[in-house]
Amino acid sequence: MTQSKHSHYDAFVRNVRHSSRIELSQSALAKNINFLRKKLGPHPRYSAVVKANAYGHGIPQMVKMLERCGVSHFSAASAYEAEEVLEHCADSSEIMIMGILYDQDIGWAVEQGIEFYVFNYDRLQLVLEVAQRLKKKAKVHLEVETGTNRTGMTEPWFKKSVAFLKKHQEHFDFQGLCTHLGGAESRSNQFRIDQQINRYKAYLTELKKRKYMPKYRHIACSAAVLAMPETHYDLVRVGVATYGFWPSPDIYYHHLREAGKDKDAPMNRIISWKTDVMDIKDVPKGEFIGYGTAFQALHDMRVAVIPLGYSNGYPRGQSNNGFVLIRGRRAPITGLINMNLFMVDITDIPGVEPGDEVVLLGKQKNSTIAVSSFTNYTQLINNEMLSRLPTAIPRRIVK
Ligand SMILES: *Cc1c(COP(=O)(O)O)cnc(C)c1O
Repeated sequence: MTQSKHSHYDAFVRNVRHSSRIELSQSALAKNINFLRKKLGPHPRYSAVVKANAYGHGIPQMVKMLERCGVSHFSAASAYEAEEVLEHCADSSEIMIMGILYDQDIGWAVEQGIEFYVFNYDRLQLVLEVAQRLKKKAKVHLEVETGTNRTGMTEPWFKKSVAFLKKHQEHFDFQGLCTHLGGAESRSNQFRIDQQINRYKAYLTELKKRKYMPKYRHIACSAAVLAMPETHYDLVRVGVATYGFWPSPDIYYHHLREAGKDKDAPMNRIISWKTDVMDIKDVPKGEFIGYGTAFQALHDMRVAVIPLGYSNGYPRGQSNNGFVLIRGRRAPITGLINMNLFMVDITDIPGVEPGDEVVLLGKQKNSTIAVSSFTNYTQLINNEMLSRLPTAIPRRIVK
């Protein structure tokens, strides 16, 4: 049995190559975690948010890489994602579900020792029955409403929930009291965020009065970790910054002011996305390239055919916009992004051959394509572009 050359990229081992590949830098991740840990100091526990397939980076690889950096707590959006984390994490690591956990799966979560948010009082009775049946404590985080008005229980229900947990202490671990800030990355939301923090503190006061404290108080996302030390408490849920992205320009400028610098790059992007030139075409002046009339050659041109398209996560909004890197040079996109193909102009890049490496995202020689360059041409924000990268693209950890 021969192993394919690329099988080490793969979650599912295939014998043939996929049309593109993702590389993840362990050293870039280490740099990000060190920087963020320094902002946090020794106390708060670092929970890496790995929802949306780890912001598109890949849960199996990111869990392994994060554990190498000392991270041992993972936050997922759903039980489905949590199960994937569980498959790949160390036995000693812990997993928290922040979102959807169906009634039918509560038994699974309790059995596996997985922590989960509870934002409805009614759910506690169900969880209690499961915990009693399994003779295992359920690890619950009470999520409270502070002003985002998505999930989170209001004060009367919170009081009832606390009384319920306290009454059935032998069946519950009170893991956390949490809320989520609605837009901490933007200065213009600050009045809302301040109000949320104050409301959260009122819930904490209630708990103090009852002498019943959770293991973790937690409200901070990346922006709060970077710019609001008073939100750090006992655990932080760090998503986008883990992957080396500033949550917003506001947060980046806040850091510069704090550091007293004009520019600084204390975090690096982890992800690169690559493919290869599939074919090369000489296009005579006046001909159209690809479907329709979106691009007409105004002079004799040479184009390279790239073997992926919008079905592979390359945004269609990049049609006639943006560029890829070949031989360290920018090759502009010509015509529409097709389902599985697109073409780029290589007229001014000498010596390109089929099989040459193409960088869609990341660095090649002295040139770089940032995720944010996609947002210049499309309506996609960083998180959306990244989280849409198909899970089928093979991912490999590099130095
Ligand atoms: C996504 C998410 C986070 C992480 O947000 P970032 O801004 O990416 O750090 C934290 N908490 C909850 C509840 C989330 O849904």
